[in-house]
Amino acid sequence: MALIYCTKCKNEVSNTAWDCTTCGLQRRKPRRAVFGKFIKCSFILFNLLMAYWFFAGMEAATEGVSEAKKSGASIGASLGAFFIFFMWATGDAILGLLILFARSSKK
Ligand SMILES: [Zn+2]
Repeated sequence: MALIYCTKCKNEVSNTAWDCTTCGLQRRKPRRAVFGKFIKCSFILFNLLMAYWFFAGMEAATEGVSEAKKSGASIGASLGAFFIFFMWATGDAILGLLILFARSSKK
């Protein structure tokens, strides 16, 4: 282990320490925080993807469909929408739990 100087109080601090032992300045971010950040990012990306998927699917279902096929297409679209919403809710629940887990295990 080596000693480096704290950027805030200029005291010597071990380079393996998470925080400065003198002033408590956080030197390194714990890995769990990085994990939590990653989960949060994937949570946002997941929601964007789901929203995109949902609207793209809706557009595809209503575009270029003849009157005769419209009723069938709407059934298919609502089934698809239900499926996407189910996936969305499930994914949000799983990722939400992961965020909670990452947050609580930080302590
Ligand atoms: Zn310090």
